[in-house]
Amino acid sequence: MKQIDLRSDTVTRPTPAMRKAMAAAEVGDDVYGDDPTVNRLEAVAAERLGFEAALFTGSGTQANLVSLMSHCSRGEEYIVGQQAHTYKYEGGGAAVLGSIQPQPLDLEPDGTLDLERVARAIKPDDFHFARTRLLCLENTQGGKVLPLDYLKRAGTFARAKKLRLHLDGARIFNAAVKLEVDVRELTAPFDSVSVCLSKGLGAPVGSVVCGGRDFIREARRWRKVCGGGMRQAGILAAAGLHALDNHVERLADDHHNALQLAGGLQRFEQLQVDMAKVQTNMVFVDLDGDLCRDLAAHLQAAGILISPGQPLRLVTHLDIRSRDIATVLKAVGNFLRQWGRTATKRRKGRTTA
Ligand SMILES: *Cc1c(COP(=O)(O)O)cnc(C)c1O
Repeated sequence: MKQIDLRSDTVTRPTPAMRKAMAAAEVGDDVYGDDPTVNRLEAVAAERLGFEAALFTGSGTQANLVSLMSHCSRGEEYIVGQQAHTYKYEGGGAAVLGSIQPQPLDLEPDGTLDLERVARAIKPDDFHFARTRLLCLENTQGGKVLPLDYLKRAGTFARAKKLRLHLDGARIFNAAVKLEVDVRELTAPFDSVSVCLSKGLGAPVGSVVCGGRDFIREARRWRKVCGGGMRQAGILAAAGLHALDNHVERLADDHHNALQLAGGLQRFEQLQVDMAKVQTNMVFVDLDGDLCRDLAAHLQAAGILISPGQPLRLVTHLDIRSRDIATVLKAVGNFLRQWGRTATKRRKGRTTA
């Protein structure tokens, strides 16, 4: 049975064409700068995202960590969303490995950081405080696309405050496809951008960091320190190149499927779907905790994987077809009808006992 895996867009398997590109990749020792395929990926990524240079890394976490370590030194600080991946979901790497202090602030409902609140969080030049060096944003944030005019304001703000500006752009191509703009419009205000090749773009491994030449030289040093210097990595870079050439425009299909899924789920009275949040490839569903666990078990038996959570996050990607959405909606409908009956029975059992 084919599994329909909605847990994340990280679960995609390389396509036959991608595997072919990987198998055929020319390789060399990338620590010596000798891998032509890695070099090509870095050149292509830099060009596509509008920067002087780029660096291939083993993961998005590593891409963000080496970026933070290149922008900030020991005793310096970065301002970041309380719910941002770099702060909350990367093991505290900036503090643990970089001696960089995070200053988290709550994100606004649209995924932005309020710039007036950021301004108030910047520390004065006083030895009591860490030195505030960097502002870090995320796009997309929880599937939401940061407004284009906000990105421009953030760029102006950072320059005025003499802060560096980093973007965790794990899913930046989802944002560009959604807005129907060249991705460079979204990256232009930033000093550095990390991009995951292994999410919606469908590569098995890898991210790239883009920035100026000096920044990337520094990031390359920190990548080595973090154990991220890889040898014949062209086999992996070939997958990334294939993804950049073939899997960007098709992200629109994932967005369409997410909308179909959200629209279908919204019709069930036990489920609350916030349609305003369905902007790219993620759907968030509010439902009772017990119901969610039972739903996950029922769907798993039908070959559909979800991660129970509050809210429940469902993610569409390269390996989800539009007919899969119909299958999922049918399975959810079947489950909710049964669950409704057993819940009624349980209530009746209680009253007669
Ligand atoms: C997945 C993700 C990362 C990190 O990527 P890994 O390759 O899983 O380390 C960083 N930021 C965001 C927003 C992500 O979704």
